[in-house]
Amino acid sequence: TTSQHDAEKWVKGVCRYCGVGCGVLAGVSKGKIVAVKGDPENTVNKGRLCVKGILLPKIMDTKDRLLQPMVKKDGQFVNVSWDEALDLIATKFKEAVAQFGPDSVGFYGSGQNIAEEAYVANKLFKGAIGTNNIDGNPRTCMASAVAGYVSTFGEDEPMGAYADIEQANVFFIIGANMAEAHPVLYSRLVDRKNSNPNVKIIVVDPRRTRTADIADIFLQFVPGTDLALLNSMAYVIIEENLVDRNFINQHTNFMQGEKKLSFDEFKTFLADYAPDKVTGLIDLPAEQIREVARLFAAKDRNTMSMWTMGLNQRIRGTWANNLVHNLHLLTGKICRPGNTPFSLTGQPSACGSIREVGALSHLLPAHRVVANPKHREEIAQIWGIDPAKMSPKPGYHTIELFRAAASGALKVLWVVCTNPGQSIPNLKTYREGMEKTFMIVSETYHPTRTSELADVVLPAALWMEKEGVFGNGERRTQHLAKAVEAPGEAKPDVWALIEVAKRLGFGDLFPYKTNDEIWEEYRKCTIGTKMELPTYDRLKKERGLTWPVHDPNGPDTYIRYAAPYDPYVKEGIQFYGKPDGRAVIFARPHANPQEMPDAEYPFYLSTGRVLEHWHTSTMTMNVPELKRAMPEMYIELNQSDAEKIGVNDGELVKITSRRGECRLKAKINGRGQPRPGMVYVPFHDTAMIRMINFVTIDAFDDISKQPEYKICAVNLAKA
Ligand code: SF4
Repeated sequence: TTSQHDAEKWVKGVCRYCGVGCGVLAGVSKGKIVAVKGDPENTVNKGRLCVKGILLPKIMDTKDRLLQPMVKKDGQFVNVSWDEALDLIATKFKEAVAQFGPDSVGFYGSGQNIAEEAYVANKLFKGAIGTNNIDGNPRTCMASAVAGYVSTFGEDEPMGAYADIEQANVFFIIGANMAEAHPVLYSRLVDRKNSNPNVKIIVVDPRRTRTADIADIFLQFVPGTDLALLNSMAYVIIEENLVDRNFINQHTNFMQGEKKLSFDEFKTFLADYAPDKVTGLIDLPAEQIREVARLFAAKDRNTMSMWTMGLNQRIRGTWANNLVHNLHLLTGKICRPGNTPFSLTGQPSACGSIREVGALSHLLPAHRVVANPKHREEIAQIWGIDPAKMSPKPGYHTIELFRAAASGALKVLWVVCTNPGQSIPNLKTYREGMEKTFMIVSETYHPTRTSELADVVLPAALWMEKEGVFGNGERRTQHLAKAVEAPGEAKPDVWALIEVAKRLGFGDLFPYKTNDEIWEEYRKCTIGTKMELPTYDRLKKERGLTWPVHDPNGPDTYIRYAAPYDPYVKEGIQFYGKPDGRAVIFARPHANPQEMPDAEYPFYLSTGRVLEHWHTSTMTMNVPELKRAMPEMYIELNQSDAEKIGVNDGELVKITSRRGECRLKAKINGRGQPRPGMVYVPFHDTAMIRMINFVTIDAFDDISKQPEYKICAVNLAKA
């Protein structure tokens, strides 16, 4: 499909899609990217790519590429010059701030932004304009993992790395379909299993997925009962004395809310979760829960847990993250090669551009928070602004931001590199809000479900048409070189942000001539923290480095918190994010999802991804091979449920929730098999009638503010 022989040169980059962060070499000929191959020198993928990665050249020159800025006049988009568009944007920002204050404007970014874009946007809004109303789509996929790491360990992001896959011999995979959502990492897992008969894989999911195909034990439990299952495993680990008492005594505290517990009190808390007591709720045999707990905790084994949206996209997502960490802390299976809890990331730079840059409404660069006066002062000094200009109040998180648009409180919103007009749950209200507010959309393609609602659309340079940095799910920071010119008048988003900053009178805060200069200022924010980043020069030369990189010329870090790997720990293990150096084992009770099936809406709905498509499919539906492979999305049903509602494979099903409806073709014996009483819909479809986010729920986790995409109640009928 790609013509490798035509390439005149090969340019080092990173895949544009998922959080695995595969290294690519882009083949360039006559100013175009004509081929892509996996970078054999990159340790993430060692030359491999999945089907989306290998077809990347086809997202570049598409019919719907946006080539010129556009402004909506009398309901119609008309082409305008960059100057006209930028002047209009600056005027709208100035008017809103003057009349309604800085919190009347906002920014919505993406884990697909390069770090430099997110850094400049963060500085413009939080530092120059003076509002913390800057959030992004990682709120909808990773926020519970952030809150889980921070509450348990005091610091965000995993302690381990992908290299743990080759060291572990028990894998506990819960709420993650790696075979489709993290394919190259999945291939490393398959290799590990094939090369070592001693490797055991446990997959926990209410839907039998492709990932379950390689499981030694597959637990198809009731949706929303994962907290009970994880507590039940902890119960068995303690009851059968599979704990590591030395590790617990030296490195952990037990907590219930703000209250410290003793080991015995924690044991008493778990009494309700004895396998015999939860077997009915979870719908798994008690003996199977015991078997899995024993395998997880076996003293002669290395255990790695991996999870993603199945745990994160829940109103108790933070708690679910805490409970996976509990299992590793109880057994001491942490901070040693092959022993780690490891949350998988969705987007190529959700970690690098959002969590690390601090481009969420409560964060500042290098894992700082806006509520901390010392953190604000440190950043204000680097940004060259008065700290009094920075608000201590967290801004609107994602759902609040779009609620504010709907209520009229948010007057101007700038959306960059993401498609909330399709991806926000309970979509109808929020689309109306997007129409109401003055919305600027920086996009590569037009129309999208967001750009169609915009007042100004700015043409954005795409992957490899600009240089930049992505940070993947294993703390690996990687540089993408510019390989080709952007078509038409498309420009890097960072350029547009700086041009608007100049028009708002903040030009002196944004004097950068190159991305190196932006990066080096950002890197200063990380020095003296525990996430020191490498220099731009090194990133350009090397195949990514996992932070912290304490000595600019020294090694990167495989495992955090543990000597001899972590440069900040002299001996043993120290969870330095916590004041006493101890991680927390939390007592978190089971709680139901926000919405349970009932007589009116008797089925669980879950949403997710397929291998062939990415997010709202603006890129992947432009790739003929991917479109042919999966031209539209579907509803996956169990055979017994299909019979109950009287539909055959391929027939249309109407899906209704308390919020809206959509219609999709039934897939009964598809690649996945949900358990009876549950249906599954991939969320990629762009047709209004098939957009599942008209149906999903916008309830969110009260700690992480991440919405519960994974579970709501629906009714089904043959359409
Ligand atoms: Fe790209 Fe992810 Fe596929 Fe790697 S696994 S090629 S990063 S989509």
